[in-house]
Parts: sequence; structure tokens; C-alpha cells
Amino acid sequence: MRIVLLGAPGSGKGTQAQKLMAERNLPQISTGDMLRAAVDAGSRFGQQAKAIMEAGQLVSDDIMLGIISERLSEPDAKDGFILDGFPRTEQQALDLADLLDQLDQPLDTAVLMDVDFDILMKRLTGRRTCSLTGKLLNIYFSPQEELDECTNAGGELVQREDDNEATIKSRLDVYREQTEPLIDYYRKRGKLQVVDADGTIDDVYARFLGAITSN
Ligand code: AMP
Repeated sequence: MRIVLLGAPGSGKGTQAQKLMAERNLPQISTGDMLRAAVDAGSRFGQQAKAIMEAGQLVSDDIMLGIISERLSEPDAKDGFILDGFPRTEQQALDLADLLDQLDQPLDTAVLMDVDFDILMKRLTGRRTCSLTGKLLNIYFSPQEELDECTNAGGELVQREDDNEATIKSRLDVYREQTEPLIDYYRKRGKLQVVDADGTIDDVYARFLGAITSN
């Protein structure tokens, strides 16, 4: 199954993709995670990407195309993938369509994680990652036991550098201006499924599964 996940920052794309990856053995390809790995590696490119990400802006389409075409040609992507955070612009959607054409691997579905704008802010400002396990948590929504499990084991609840209010605002603006038009792009091509992404992780996951198995 070849899936694109669309949705604003904080709409739960990463959480749902991780669940599907664990259950269906499909690789979650998160361009944000790949860029963060480049930042951590400290390369020259990583340093440039860091500045762009901290400003809540987008890395250029050309660079993203290079990154994604390399990733999609790896063996684990042959039997399907979940794209999380790509495409983010219309140009990226066109590039992806060309790339998948060349690979003879057409996209099955683009799933929009649809969530109320007010909820996004709490999801983003409360978001943390356990430094030991990489598990995604939220100080407002995760059960206290799950938060304690991380800290009691000696882990830290780490906040992403770009999850501060100023950066969040520009990420949401960029989403509205550059990524939201992709909803129509996929709708026009008959590929769009909309999932109500408000609710518990398990409730949203059930709806998500329903959407990707309905066509
Ligand atoms: P994410 O983890 O998906 O929210 O991505 C974090 C940041 O990485 C974004 O705010 C962008 O600066 C950058 N980024 C991730 N994916 C893309 C993409 N497809 N195109 C351009 N920039 C991206």
C-alpha cells in the first residue's frame, strides 16, 4: 500500500504512521525525521536545514526531491510506504507523481488528517519525545503512567526545537498557504480520503484504517 499522509502540523500524522508501520510492516517515511537526522549529524546541509526548520519554513523542493527519490529507491519501500510530511507543496506533489510513475508504483491514497485548528496548538506545544524510546507523548493528552514510564526509566521528555509558539505559528501559516492546496490536488485525482483526526489515538487509528481499506 502506498499512502501519502496530509494534515497540518500536529494533526497526528506521525503518530498514526508509526502505528500503521508497527502493525503492517510498512515503512514510515518522515521527511521531517530525515531532516532532523541530518541536523543531528551536523553536516553543512544539516546546518542549513536547521535554520530553515527553526524558522518554520520549508526546505527547497529540489532538495526534497533528491531526498525522497533516494529514500523511495531503498529496498524496504518496494512493497509500499507511508509518506509522512511529503509532499508539502504542489511542486512536490507533481515531482512525487513523476517519481512514482518512473518506479511504476502508483499512489493508492492520500489521507487527510482533519483536525480543529484550536486543538492543533495544544498538540504541538504539549508534544514531547521520550529520549530513551523515541515514543511520541503529549504532556496534555498522554496518560500520566506513560509519561512517568519514560522519566522513571531515566529518560527525558524532549521538546522539538520547532515546537515553540513563534515557530508553530509560521509552520501553520506555511501549511495554510503551501500545503492545504494539495487537498484539492488529490481530491481532483480521486485519491483523497478525509479522516476525522479529533479524538483518542486509537479512535483516529480505527478511522484511518477504515479510510485506507475502503478503496
Ligand atoms: P515535520 O516533522 O514533518 O513537521 O517537519 C519539520 C520541518 O521539516 C518542517 O517545518 C520543514 O521545515 C521541514 N520539512 C519536512 N518535510 C518537508 C518537505 N516535504 N518540504 C520542505 N520542508 C520539509
